[in-house]
Amino acid sequence: MDLKQHIRQVPDFPKPGILFYDISTLLAHPQAWQETVRQLVGAIGPEKPDILAGIESRGFLVAAPLALQLGLGFVMIRKQGKLPGATIPYTYDLEYGSDTIEMQEDAVKPGQRVVVLDDLLATGGTMRASVELLRKMGADVRGCACIIELAFLSGREKIDIPVHSLISFE
Ligand code: 5GP
Repeated sequence: MDLKQHIRQVPDFPKPGILFYDISTLLAHPQAWQETVRQLVGAIGPEKPDILAGIESRGFLVAAPLALQLGLGFVMIRKQGKLPGATIPYTYDLEYGSDTIEMQEDAVKPGQRVVVLDDLLATGGTMRASVELLRKMGADVRGCACIIELAFLSGREKIDIPVHSLISFE
């Protein structure tokens, strides 16, 4: 099944001049979504991690069904201020300014093997920051996986662990 045809390209979102790759059309198509989850399971491979981490917010949609399929738990990486209780933050530079992501301090135990999931890899900044946050928490980050990779932005060059993607836009 060609998953690429299930991605809708929306011009001028969220700003004029930006082409947005919309996964709503993939989520709304049960066979295509099942196939996506099946392919992500294959991308992670037979050596299962201990836990999955999903990046807010569409990364949760990817991580949750995969966690069920693999029989693993799933933890959330969120923007600052959304998670209750004690959290561990990680601040990273953006083109203009900076951003902070965080996880609950007991979400991952030192040495746990983690795979990080998001819907899309663009510049790679979000994925790299997530990997660094998990490392700050002592996790052994084994790999990253996403549905879509915008290969023309070379995001994977920022990431020093294996990056799996199902659909690539060149
Ligand atoms: P990056 O940090 O790699 O530049 O951006 C990736 C992050 O922004 C991901 O969390 C992803 O959800 C979001 N993102 C950026 N552009 C798009 C897009 O065109 N479509 C979707 N679905 N997400 C995007």
